[in-house]
Amino acid sequence: MNELLTLVIATGNPGKTVEIRDLLKDFPIDIKNLDDFGPLPPVLEDGDTFDENAYKKASFVSSILGYPALADDSGLVVDALDGAPGVYSARYAGENATDAQRYTKLLEEMKGQSNRKAAFECVISLAVPSGAALTYEARCEGLIAEEPRGDGGFGYDPVFYYPPLKKTFGQLSRAEKSRVSHRGKALRELRDEFDKVLIWIRQNMPVQAKFNCQNDALNDY
Ligand code: IMP
Repeated sequence: MNELLTLVIATGNPGKTVEIRDLLKDFPIDIKNLDDFGPLPPVLEDGDTFDENAYKKASFVSSILGYPALADDSGLVVDALDGAPGVYSARYAGENATDAQRYTKLLEEMKGQSNRKAAFECVISLAVPSGAALTYEARCEGLIAEEPRGDGGFGYDPVFYYPPLKKTFGQLSRAEKSRVSHRGKALRELRDEFDKVLIWIRQNMPVQAKFNCQNDALNDY
């Protein structure tokens, strides 16, 4: 019989772990996150794309821990700012800035702009120790609001207006946001073909060497 497969969520963000665990709860896997292991050095997220950064995180963790690992990278891409803040979304107002400082800076940059089109993008990478990986991508289009509204969610949610629901992401419940968000869509894509993903993982994991000691050989020592 097959052993239960372990999948490591390569994030220190407890919110993401809860969301991913919940989505994959019906599959025969043992989901761990980085807190289940000893300290790991942080990966430098210095890629030019969400894809590169997601892959860096997943493949680094997988190669060090020896288990398949899943990581995501996401951010806000604004048309009028040539795609900024993009991969710099988390650091847009400096390393230690708060969410409010980040979106306030964005609103300043967008003052007087008539083109308010923006999108949240998310890339999920699932890597095995050899470096092979699967990628899932999704985006959610909206507009940058003139002022923040709602205090739900995190990051740029209060200034991301989603026209189909006539609300900012900050005004949505967690379930409402997950139904339409970039991360929710990418995770559901992964879930919908997770049976195939499990086969791919098993085929791409290194075969564990088994060493059997013969009693006779042991007796020689
Ligand atoms: P990361 O994928 O955790 O590295 O997120 C990068 C940054 O993008 C976050 O710090 C947020 O500022 C922003 N971001 C990513 N996803 C969302 C979202 O769903 N809502 C609001 N901001 C987000």
